[in-house]
Amino acid sequence: MIKYNLNCKNCNLNFDSWFASSTEFEKLKKRKLLSCHVCNSLKIEKSLMMPSVINKISIRKDKTSSKKNVDIKKTIIEYQKFIKKNFDYVGENFTYEARSLHYKNNKNKKGIYGHASKKDIKELSEEGIETQLIPWINDKEN
Ligand SMILES: [Zn+2]
Repeated sequence: MIKYNLNCKNCNLNFDSWFASSTEFEKLKKRKLLSCHVCNSLKIEKSLMMPSVINKISIRKDKTSSKKNVDIKKTIIEYQKFIKKNFDYVGENFTYEARSLHYKNNKNKKGIYGHASKKDIKELSEEGIETQLIPWINDKEN
């Protein structure tokens, strides 16, 4: 079994799905058996994530996202460096910390990053808290 993070190109929904093998994804897609459960679009693509990647979330005040498709892995690594340097790691406390950061604006201005479940992310976005899902490469890789 292999888990893929999938992205709907139509409504931009991200979701995870399990497949028997890496080829099963392509098969299902060809047979038009893969559809978005929100908008039913067939435009489902695998997200640009490697199997060993952990999803992490960062919350940030500024929007300086660099989008280069030239070398995605390199970009991710650089992004990670940037985040580690400029953001506080809060681990599993992400949801709690994101709320306290959001509701107490006078706190430190540093962004945070950590783990959050999809349910948490949804709840945060309903409260108007901006989060960003970023692919994460384990340090031991390479
Ligand atoms: Zn969709």
